[in-house]
Amino acid sequence: MNRLLESAAERALRYLEGVDARPVAPDADATERLGELDEPLPQAPTDPEEVLELLDTRCSPATMAMAGPRFFGFVIGGSLPVTLGANWLAAAWDQNTALHRVTPATAQLEAVALSWLLELFGLPSESGGAFVTGATVANLSALAAGRHAVYTRIGWDIEGDGMVGAPPVTVIVGAEAHPSVFKALGLLGLGRNRVVRVPVDGQGRMRADLLPEVSGPTIVCVQAGNVNTGAFDPFEDVCARAHEAGAWVHVDGAFGLWAAAAPERAGLVRGMEAADSWATDAHKWLNVPYDSGLAFVRDRDALRSAMALTAEYLPTETDQRNPADYTPELSRRARGVEVWAALKALGRDGVADLVGRTCRHARAFAEGLADAGYEILNDVVLNQVLVSFGDATVTEKVIADIQRDGTCWCGGTVWQGRTAMRISVSSWATTEEDVQVSLEAILRCAARHRTPR
Ligand SMILES: *Cc1c(COP(=O)(O)O)cnc(C)c1O
Repeated sequence: MNRLLESAAERALRYLEGVDARPVAPDADATERLGELDEPLPQAPTDPEEVLELLDTRCSPATMAMAGPRFFGFVIGGSLPVTLGANWLAAAWDQNTALHRVTPATAQLEAVALSWLLELFGLPSESGGAFVTGATVANLSALAAGRHAVYTRIGWDIEGDGMVGAPPVTVIVGAEAHPSVFKALGLLGLGRNRVVRVPVDGQGRMRADLLPEVSGPTIVCVQAGNVNTGAFDPFEDVCARAHEAGAWVHVDGAFGLWAAAAPERAGLVRGMEAADSWATDAHKWLNVPYDSGLAFVRDRDALRSAMALTAEYLPTETDQRNPADYTPELSRRARGVEVWAALKALGRDGVADLVGRTCRHARAFAEGLADAGYEILNDVVLNQVLVSFGDATVTEKVIADIQRDGTCWCGGTVWQGRTAMRISVSSWATTEEDVQVSLEAILRCAARHRTPR
């Protein structure tokens, strides 16, 4: 066994050592060769070393270098080395982190990490929390708690009696809410389409002045960090108006919540602590391995009521926090270990530096592109930059060229009707030099398609 695991570690280290020098996107040959994996289910066993060898030779070259310093697509962090190490150790422990009495070490690490996170974000210390797969499931979990609360207030047992025949709930979202919020609403039976959409401004912020009159059971979804612009909804105004009418306010802060951890950005999240629930990702800006999302709920019992189960064969009785009382899953990996390791290794200062540094890199991109005459479409308040290189066709061509060039990787989007390239700086590994090298590559590609004025 030792030889096998050492081989895996050696291969992983070789991969990571090479990730900086290789093109960010996998080349066409490597992608083509993935077809060789398409074989019939083998009848006979394969030597485990050979299995690793196949993974490494066939698949390593066909990976996207998301672990490297110049991947700027979507909102994607790398894994801090300490979190990768913690992930390896936790994988060796192989703890099914559902019940405290069965897996005390990993349950305890979650409990500690949860209280640190609440402090870091300035959220109520009595809040309950769930360590889930990502912000999609964090939104689902928090909204399940919200659904429980608004139905309990009108005397309906939503977990027991379900949505069929239940009185309606009004759901209000900003017009720029993330698609995962609609997915979560659909899964909860609240409907992807039967929502009230509040118009937004040019940055994608909900117009608090256009919030409809709220009455009856209501859930309002706001956003910390628009996936395109990085903008924040006006939490103070929305929370005040929603709470006056007894509504539940949920914040989707998949990456934006982390602004609370950086003193110079904390103004962006002002008032969000007044909400009732929050969702965020650790695998984006905290730079821990996938899958790692977090849901926080002020009324811990609402989350517990939506999620907890009991069974004769499960030792759920404890005076400690049972992880599975707060999550959709029962069996699951100990993802809190990496969150704990990141927070312990970075400390408050380290998290603030990570957030602050990546935001400064984003600003450097925006300045370099604007200086070269390209239009920045958003106020660069966080780690997101939207740039246009001309009309839609030109911008799409430039994006394709940049992806082919391989120095860095950026994706496209359409922002309020305009085709744009997104630059999201979320990795701990990105340096000022990476920004300069990437900026040069982007400008080189863009110059080829420049339309003369
Ligand atoms: C990324 C993102 C999500 C979804 O997160 P996953 O971790 O991919 O499930 C939700 N909301 C916002 C604002 C995001 O940026």
